[in-house]
Amino acid sequence: MTVTEGLAATRARIARAALASGRDPAQIKLVAVSKTKPLESIREAYAAGQRAFGENYAQELETKALALADLPDLEWHFIGHLQTNKAKLVARSAHFVHTVDGESLARELGRRAASAGRVLPVLIEVNVGGEPQKHGAAPSEIEEVARAIAAQPALALRGLMTVPPDEPEAARRAFETLASLRSLHGGAARLPELSMGMSGDLELAIAAGATLVRVGTAIFGARGAG
Ligand SMILES: *Cc1c(COP(=O)(O)O)cnc(C)c1O
Repeated sequence: MTVTEGLAATRARIARAALASGRDPAQIKLVAVSKTKPLESIREAYAAGQRAFGENYAQELETKALALADLPDLEWHFIGHLQTNKAKLVARSAHFVHTVDGESLARELGRRAASAGRVLPVLIEVNVGGEPQKHGAAPSEIEEVARAIAAQPALALRGLMTVPPDEPEAARRAFETLASLRSLHGGAARLPELSMGMSGDLELAIAAGATLVRVGTAIFGARGAG
C-alpha cells in the first residue's frame, strides 16, 4: 500500500467511525504519525492533502521541520515523551504539544515558547490506567498540571491525551475514562480536545469522543523494517 492509499483508507475509517457514533467527521483531526519515516513519505502525504504530522523525538522533529519548511501550512504535533531539556527544541518547532505531564515541564515549555514569541497549544498526557511503564500525569494530578499551564501566558491548554493499553477492551475503558476526566475538569469548554486513538483502535477512540487521532502504521506502514 502506498502512503496515498494508506491515508485514503484511514480517512475512510475515521468517517465511518464518526458516522457510526452520530458524529461529524469534520470534528476529528487526523495527525499522521511520521516518526522514523523519511521526508519523501511526508511529502507524499502532503501532496494527498495531509497537513498535521506527529513526531516523537525532539531532534527528529526539528530536522524534519527545517527540511520541509518549503511546505506551507504544515502543522507539527509533538506526541512523544518530552524531557525538560528538550523543551527549547520543541517550543520552536512544534505547533501543538500533546504530552505535558508535569508542572516543571509546563513552566519550562512556557518559558521557551515565550522566548520564541509564540503561544503553544498543549494537552495534558494522562496515564489513565496507572501503568508503571507509561508516562503521563496521574488522574489526580490533572488539576495541578492544568494550573501550571494556565500560569504560562505562552501556553494554551486545549485538552487531554492518553496512550491506552494494547488490549481492545482495556483501551476502550481508557478512552471512556479520559472522556470522564475531561467532564470532571471543566468539560469541553475548558478542554475541547481529546487526543486518543491510533492505527489499531481509532474506531474505539472516536466512539468515546476523540477529536485528534494519531495514526502512523496504517498510513506509512510498519516502522523499523524499513
Ligand atoms: C507511534 C505513536 C502513535 C502511532 O501509532 P500507530 O500504531 O503506528 O498508529 C500514536 N501515538 C503515539 C504517542 C505514538 O508514540
